[in-house]
Amino acid sequence: MSERQQTIDPVCGKDVYPDECQFVSDDEKGTHYFCSKDCQSTFDKADAKTKKGFWARYTDRLKDVQCSRTTQDCR
Ligand SMILES: [Zn+2]
Repeated sequence: MSERQQTIDPVCGKDVYPDECQFVSDDEKGTHYFCSKDCQSTFDKADAKTKKGFWARYTDRLKDVQCSRTTQDCR
């Protein structure tokens, strides 16, 4: 089994896989993947403050994903 890259939709928090994701947006923070067109357009329309809120959640969730892959000592 090859390891799949996994990331998180910053809008709804669903897990998404970049290799099969059709909803992609780029901004100054990098490339972002979304589970649906709705989430992508929500993100694209969001102002800077709203995006910041997405980022806060996104970062937390990413930490969780990494933790679940390793051991308990990541907390
Ligand atoms: Zn989504």
